[in-house]
Amino acid sequence: MKFEKREILLIVGILFIMIGVMALPHMNLIYSVTIAISLYFAIRVFIGRRKKQIQKEVGQGICAVCGAKVVEGKCPKCDTA
Ligand SMILES: [Zn+2]
Repeated sequence: MKFEKREILLIVGILFIMIGVMALPHMNLIYSVTIAISLYFAIRVFIGRRKKQIQKEVGQGICAVCGAKVVEGKCPKCDTA
């Protein structure tokens, strides 16, 4: 549900950009649509990469005691011993 909402927001944003590009002089419909579509895919790739990166970082978990990121199965603050 959350993802879908974000997707709609992205599409609406792209549409606004497309309308803005269309308003520029020497711009035709094909140009603005091409820019909008390439921008859409660029943002989707960017979001996908960020999601993967976050999953990687969160993958090892967070320490239940101090909330620090767990590295190699240990909390760098609590498991120093
Ligand atoms: Zn800790």
